[in-house]
This record gives sequence, structure tokens and C-alpha cells, in this order.
Amino acid sequence: MKLTDIKGVGPKKAEKLNQMGIFTPTDLMHYLPRKYEDRSRFATLDQAQEDIKNFFILKVENSPKTYFFKKNMSITRSVASDRTGKVNLVWFNDRFTAQKLEIGKEYKFFGKYDKEKNQLNNPLLSQIEDDFIGGIYPTYSVLKGFSKKDFIKIKNQVFESKVRVNDFLPDKLLMDKDLLDINTILKVFHNPKDYTSLFKAKRDYAIRNALLEVISRSKSSLDQTGYMENKAISLSNYIKSLSFQLTEDQQKALSEISEDMIVKKQMNRIVIGDVGSGKTITAILAAITSMKNQKQVAFMAPTELLAIQHYKNYESFLDKHGFKAAILTGSTPTVERNNIYENLKQGKIDIIFGTHALFQDKIKYKDLGLVIMDEQQRFGVYQRKLLAEKGQFPDILLLSATPIPRTLALTKFKDLDVSIIKSRPAERKPIETYLVDQTYEKRFIKFIYKNITAGRQAYVVCPRVEEDDEIEVNSVEGIYKKYKKIFASKAKVDFIHGKLSPEEKEKKQEDFADGKVDILIATTIIEVGIDVKNANIMVIYDANYFGMSQLHQIRGRIGRGQHQSYCILVKSNSEEDDEKLTFIESNNDGFEIANKDLELRGGGDRFGLFQSGLIEDSGEFLYDEDIYEEANTIFREIESGLYKLDNKLIEQEIIKTSKIYDKVIMN
Ligand code: ADP
Ligand code: MG
Repeated sequence: MKLTDIKGVGPKKAEKLNQMGIFTPTDLMHYLPRKYEDRSRFATLDQAQEDIKNFFILKVENSPKTYFFKKNMSITRSVASDRTGKVNLVWFNDRFTAQKLEIGKEYKFFGKYDKEKNQLNNPLLSQIEDDFIGGIYPTYSVLKGFSKKDFIKIKNQVFESKVRVNDFLPDKLLMDKDLLDINTILKVFHNPKDYTSLFKAKRDYAIRNALLEVISRSKSSLDQTGYMENKAISLSNYIKSLSFQLTEDQQKALSEISEDMIVKKQMNRIVIGDVGSGKTITAILAAITSMKNQKQVAFMAPTELLAIQHYKNYESFLDKHGFKAAILTGSTPTVERNNIYENLKQGKIDIIFGTHALFQDKIKYKDLGLVIMDEQQRFGVYQRKLLAEKGQFPDILLLSATPIPRTLALTKFKDLDVSIIKSRPAERKPIETYLVDQTYEKRFIKFIYKNITAGRQAYVVCPRVEEDDEIEVNSVEGIYKKYKKIFASKAKVDFIHGKLSPEEKEKKQEDFADGKVDILIATTIIEVGIDVKNANIMVIYDANYFGMSQLHQIRGRIGRGQHQSYCILVKSNSEEDDEKLTFIESNNDGFEIANKDLELRGGGDRFGLFQSGLIEDSGEFLYDEDIYEEANTIFREIESGLYKLDNKLIEQEIIKTSKIYDKVIMN
């Protein structure tokens, strides 16, 4: 079945779906809701709760009347009843919903009851027989010009057809472990009957993801024979040449890494540290051991922007000590690229920075000794397998900026050695964070203005790229227009997001770093590692749409220089639940935030799915220890031969997962 075989999908709609990352019917099945609305709480009028939305069955008492006022403004009123009473129905600027109403007929209504006025404001409406109201309703984020109803219709057709996802877990394992098969899980995600079944589906899905993580990282799934060792190198002179002193945790991590590198065994270590804790320089120092042993180092970053920035930041340090650094990304021109290939092959490059491009087939290293993967969660660790397939078994050093508690780290990364950098460079001023709603916009815009007049710069982050009437969140496009208008000639405003070409992104990034731009409106693309010391303000619109660790990451873009920095979390006006935001407001420690994140999810969304709204939390699922324990147990049993897994399917799954990460980065 192709997408265009679905009724209602022509070439145009197929193109839209492609833009959403959907290329096949099974991709549609995997396109998960971004959240759920509980429309299941039935009430009669006398029992209606005031603080939440209820679902009512009401009989229409009179025909709706619409009153117009001002330009394009209208109020439509009607009255409806159940056996316990009567209620006013009111729709603002929507005269169409009520047009469907027939007097004397019963309908389902869904909305918040205003007791004082005895009215339902803008209630949703459906026929009694429709299941649009009365259950748990999934919300999807779809592209502009593509209605949600269309999307749901299209998606439902796939579920009704014979199309099924191939499960990478065998039936026997599913039975033994009492796990749902993937098709059932997806069905529940798209059509949950109740919260109990949704919870079960989420849990089982989480175990699968965790298992994939464990498999993709596992050493034993790789056939490694070429262990290597290094002679020990004294790093003290290099460390002395830095403009700062290493923190205690940096020193400890560095010596742990160095010890791994000199023994005759492949290193598999992860360094976990908060944003700005100094992981990168620790890794660069570790790289010296490899380079001094005449082996090459590949430093892989999740985005071009970040690769370029690392290269720029460390090139002169490396050069000063006689190491030849280079950079290779998807947009490196062909001539230069061929040059780099040649130099890598001949061993003329000691350390190469780049993205996925570093592991294309064409690239041959003379002797690759160490691979550093920054923000590894973005990649999956699939690349490691690619390396092994080339017959190379370099030491592997992963850097993760998602701080998690040590006990969780030890379970999650069971087959990795873990170093944790907790302490921060001393001279940093803590960032001040304020939680406001959008009614404060004028005030914080003034505040931005004050700071840019003082020579500083500001980031403004939005959850979406484009404006969309159906999704009430701020977009880069919309805020850019607004700020352009407000600041006019008083500030240089620019924007950046993942849909721009690599050259454009690089240019805009450079302009901001060079101070040519005062305010940069961005998506989470700037979440990953961007380092501009002069920027001291971070505004995050619709902050409630982001996950906790993601917010912490984004905030980590400021507070990097000597200026006092401020983060303004702007919650959507409609948002009520902001416990996670108040915690972020009062807390600057990534490890504590991660703890809280897990704790908050304890009730509802323990498995990290859907919780951040439009964007998955950092592209990484942060599960609790139980999930990883279970995944580890299953993995051991697979290893012992108890269950046979189809390697091809596993591989496809892992690639799919890293593609999801790519998509997240593209935002
Ligand atoms: P991370 O990768 O953990 O987010 P980086 O390695 O990029 O952090 O470091 C952030 C900034 O802090 C860089 O500009 C780096 O040079 C600087 N830095 C790193 N370690 C220290 C230190 N011990 N003291 C002062 N500044 C440091
Ligand atoms: Mg970093």
C-alpha cells in the first residue's frame, strides 16, 4: 500500500505528509499524537465541575441567534437542558458550530461550565453517536493546510486496512513478558479506550525503546577483534595552557578517560554533565592521548552549526600544540571535501570535526583511534556499528548534556562506563529565571530593549517554525514579524530554524555570534550547544510545550559570559498546570531538574512520551530505572539465546529511531 492508495490522499496531500516525515502507511501509524485531551468526564448540569472541562448530553431548547458587533466579531447564543437544569450556550466569533443545532434534539457538548453565568463557553459539539466527545481524544500536530479531521480520517483508514507494522520482538518474548505487540500499542495510542490501557501501552512502548537503546549500544552485538592500546601521555602542559583551571569533576573525568585509553581494551565511556559544565574541553584534552599516539580522532556533533562551532573554538588551541584539525559537513564543497578525504587517508589530519558525514563509506581513516560523539542521544549509537563494519574499533567517548542521577545512569548505560561532571566552572553567575504569561509581553520586550541598548543580545525561542491557525502556539515566523514591527530600526532582528539551508543557518549563526544581530528568533535548533557569550537574555514562548530537560538545555545557551543573564519562561495563556515551569524557575541544577522530571512523570507520563507537546523532549526518552531494568533483563535473555530476534528488523528500528532524532533537530 502506498500513501496515495489511501482514499483522500492525492499527490498534494502525500507531499504534505512527506513534509511531516510520513512516507508510508506504517509511518502514519507511527505518527503519534502530541497529547491527549480527557473528554471522558461526563456530568449532568447540577454536578458540573468548574475547574475542568466536562462532557454533557444536552437537549437544544431554542434556535441559536447570532449578534454581530465591531468588525468580524460575533456572539452566538442558545439554550440547552438536561433533566437537572438549563444552561446558556455561548460561542464567540463562531457562528457556524451552532448552525448545526436542531431544536429538541440531544447532542454531546464538551466544555468548561461557568457557574456564575450558568453558561458553557465555546463548547465543542458532536452528534450523540460520534465518539469525538466522550472518550480520550488524541491531538496531532499537522501541517498548515491539512486539517486534523482529514489527518484522522486518513490515519484511520490505515488502521482499518491490512497494513501492519513488523514487530521486532518475537511472539514468544511478548507472551513471556506480557508485553503488547507493536500493532496493538499503536492502535491504543491513536485510539485509547481509557487511561489504564493507555498507560500499559506507553509502558510497553517505553520498554521497547529502552531495549533498542541497550541493543544499539551493546558491545556484544558488535564483533570486535581489533582492541587497541595507547601509551600514556602527560597532559599537564596542555592543561596549563588553558585560560582557566579545570574543575575537580573535569579532572576526575579526564583521568578516568585517560586510564581507559591506555589499556588494551576498547573504551566505551559516557561523560554526563550539565550544559556548560565543560565536557567539550575535557574531551579535547582526552583526544590528545590518541593524537600523541599517532592516531586520529573524529569528533562528531549532532548539527553542522555545532560542529563548526567546536572547530572554531578549539582549532587554535589544537594548532598551538601542533595538531592539525579539519571540519567536514554535508555542505563542505566538493574540492575541499576530496582534499579532506585524501588527508584523512594519509594521516595528515589529526582531528576532524563534523556531523554524520564523518562516517560515510567514502571516508577512510589512516588510523582512527578515538571517536567522540557529542550529545550522543541525538544519534542513537548506530554509527558505532557502521564503524565496526569498516573494521575499525576506536575508543568511543560519548558526551551527554542530559544530566541524570548516577543510579539511573548506571542502569540506563549499563554497558558503558560513566563519568559525571557535576561541578561547574566557578566564575559563572547563576541565571535569573522568571515565569510569566503572555500578558507580560510588553514588559519583557522593554527589558530586552534595555539590555540590547546596553550592548547585549537576546534569543527568543518558539515551539514552531510556521504560523498555524489551528495550533495556538507562537511560531518563529509570527514572532519575527511582531518583533520586526516593534523594534523597527531600533534593533536588528533575525530568525533561524531547521528548514533553512545549511549555508543560511551558518550565516545567521555567524552574524549573531559576530554581534551583527541583536535578537535571534529561533526554534530549539539553538538548544544544542550554541555558545555566544554576549547573549544574556533567553525568552521561551509557550514554555509549557517543552520538556523540562529541554528547557534547561535551552536556558543553558545564556549565562556563558561575565554578564548577568535572564531567562523568561512565557507560558501559554491557556496553560494551567505549570509545576514543571515553577521548578525550572527556581532551579538551575540539571541533575535536580532531571530528578524532578522523573518524579513529576510518576503519575501521568512516566514514559516520556508526548509530554513535551510539539517536540519530543530533547529527542531522548528519559525513562525511570524500572524501564531500563526490564530492558536490560530482556537483553540478557536475548544474548543468552532464549529469544531469537531478526537482526534486519532491529537494524531498521535503530535507523528509524535515529531518523526521528534527526527530525527533532530539524525543527
Ligand atoms: P559543555 O560541552 O559541557 O556544555 P563546554 O565544554 O562547551 O561545556 O564549556 C562551556 C564553556 O565554558 C566554554 O566556553 C569553555 O571554554 C568554558 N569552560 C570549560 N571548562 C571551564 C572551566 N573549568 N573554567 C572556566 N571555563 C570553562
Ligand atoms: Mg557541549
